[in-house]
Amino acid sequence: MKIAVLPGDGIGTEIVAEAVKVLNVLGLPLEMETALVGGAAYEAHGHPLPESTLKLAKDADAILFGAVGDWKYDKLDRPLRPEQAILGLRKNLGLFANFRPAICYEQLVGASSLKPELISGLDILIIRELTGDIYFGQPRGRRIASDGHFPGVEEAFDTMRYSKPEIERIAHVAFQAARKRKAMGKEGRVTSVDKANVLETFQFWKDVVTEVGQQYPDVALDHMYVDNAAMQLVKEPKRFDVVVTGNMFGDILSDEASMLTGSIGMLPSASLNANNQGLYEPSHGSAPDIAGKGIANPLATILSAAMMLRFSLNQEEAAQRIEAAVQKVLAQGLRTADIYSEGTTRASTCEMGDAVVKAL
Ligand code: NAD
Repeated sequence: MKIAVLPGDGIGTEIVAEAVKVLNVLGLPLEMETALVGGAAYEAHGHPLPESTLKLAKDADAILFGAVGDWKYDKLDRPLRPEQAILGLRKNLGLFANFRPAICYEQLVGASSLKPELISGLDILIIRELTGDIYFGQPRGRRIASDGHFPGVEEAFDTMRYSKPEIERIAHVAFQAARKRKAMGKEGRVTSVDKANVLETFQFWKDVVTEVGQQYPDVALDHMYVDNAAMQLVKEPKRFDVVVTGNMFGDILSDEASMLTGSIGMLPSASLNANNQGLYEPSHGSAPDIAGKGIANPLATILSAAMMLRFSLNQEEAAQRIEAAVQKVLAQGLRTADIYSEGTTRASTCEMGDAVVKAL
């Protein structure tokens, strides 16, 4: 099983090192090879996604990714910015389905900004379409004033667009995920989030999702406008099971959902293509504000490694072992700074990784 390890920038290198430590003690035949990506790759090769890194990623069964970005690159031309590496990987590998589970661990109920009764037992899955929508639609651009008197940008525009096959494939992913969850005792319901009352693109989205849903009579389907979904996520998050939505709404709602559970440092994510090849990364960014201090929470990355074993490497048992080890460490009271509360024991990034290894 070949894994491309791309730590990236900021805390990326610190948290990925802990996940690699965990993977190394599972006793599985994992071949891990590391490469530069993001700002680190730009510094060394002049590009955030060098050919050699892309090749390694393409040839691997799965990619373990840290995070990319730093404010110091904000002045670079857009194609050279670290974040372009993620878009490049998504595009080149056809990674169209982003999975973000938001699970509230009982030991961390107090770390959420919501009341404990609202999030205790929370276990929802946000599925975001990754390759279409307004982020990629053409034409896009800035129009320059032409009267010569006041030269400069007059207006800017982007195009929101989805094709039927794009909606169909993400809808199938959502219905299948809900079906699997139902088999594991969850509700088995898909909530499709749109803005059909205002946008043609999302009326079409709603129609196509409804059509695909007819092939899954065992899975319930409901529809919700995105503004209401944003509200319901903080009002009554447990009303959801699987949420499926487009690229932009998913970008926003998945970050909102991730904060329900306390810390973004706890939340893994997976981006999959049609062959189950995937990129696995924590939901957070490179956190330049705490980089190099040894205080970042590595659990989101360790849990991303568990998702990698489950979805791309077919190692369900090993995935569950990691998840159980994380729960055990939390039950022991160990906490990195972001999830620390009185009465618990403060741990560094490295101590947290070591504790998971020991629990395994
Ligand atoms: P961020 O997620 O990096 O950080 C937001 C806040 O959460 C910060 O206060 C940070 O310290 C904290 N945080 C994040 N991860 C943590 C962890 N594991 N443990 C403890 N605390 C953690 O978002 P940002 O500050 O908006 O962005 C920083 C950089 O990351 C930017 O360059 C941005 O473009 C990039 N970014 C990259 C990705 C990615 O690589 N997929 C995703 C989002 C942002």
